[in-house]
Amino acid sequence: MKVQLSDIKVLFSEEQIQKRIKEIASEMNEFYNGEEVYAVCVLKGAVMFAADLVKCLNMPLRFEFIRLSSYGSATTTSGKVNAVDISLPDLNGKNVLIIEDIVDTGLTAKFLLDFIHCNFKTKSVKFASLLDKKIFRQTEIEPDYMGFHVDDKFLIGYGLDYDGYYRNLRYIGYADKSLLE
Ligand code: 5GP
Repeated sequence: MKVQLSDIKVLFSEEQIQKRIKEIASEMNEFYNGEEVYAVCVLKGAVMFAADLVKCLNMPLRFEFIRLSSYGSATTTSGKVNAVDISLPDLNGKNVLIIEDIVDTGLTAKFLLDFIHCNFKTKSVKFASLLDKKIFRQTEIEPDYMGFHVDDKFLIGYGLDYDGYYRNLRYIGYADKSLLE
């Protein structure tokens, strides 16, 4: 493995992430105003964000999980979204909150939103992403809730992996591009 833990520079600390999650959650608590929500965590990357976010939400909530992949083991998107496991309960008439780690090209978000709109007549669909990397965006997708804007960096930690590693970090960091080639 080329990237060692000591190569990863902190971009957002644990404190910054947790503070921002509380702010996003309070916007959501206000918006949903006690209505039931189906939160859909997009595995694997959103696992940490979704877990911390739902703990701050105060409405009746069902926590669902789907698994999509677009990166494989590379550090740039393949441009093709794979639905590894997209089994969902009946979302007709429900408030659906999709929880993602990062919107990059937006292809994953578009795939998922199209899937939900094609299969269900929901009450509402909102898209939350901890990170928003606009520089390579290929779709019109804008998250309804967003934690931090990021530029052209490959981010690692807090759910985001480098070749399957480092999802367990409490912070979000990045490594020099030369190490990723
Ligand atoms: P998109 O379909 O928007 O291009 O990419 C979404 C997925 O690509 C994310 O859910 C995430 O898994 C992966 N991804 C995008 N940017 C990064 C990054 O900087 N680091 C890591 N580890 N994964 C990323």
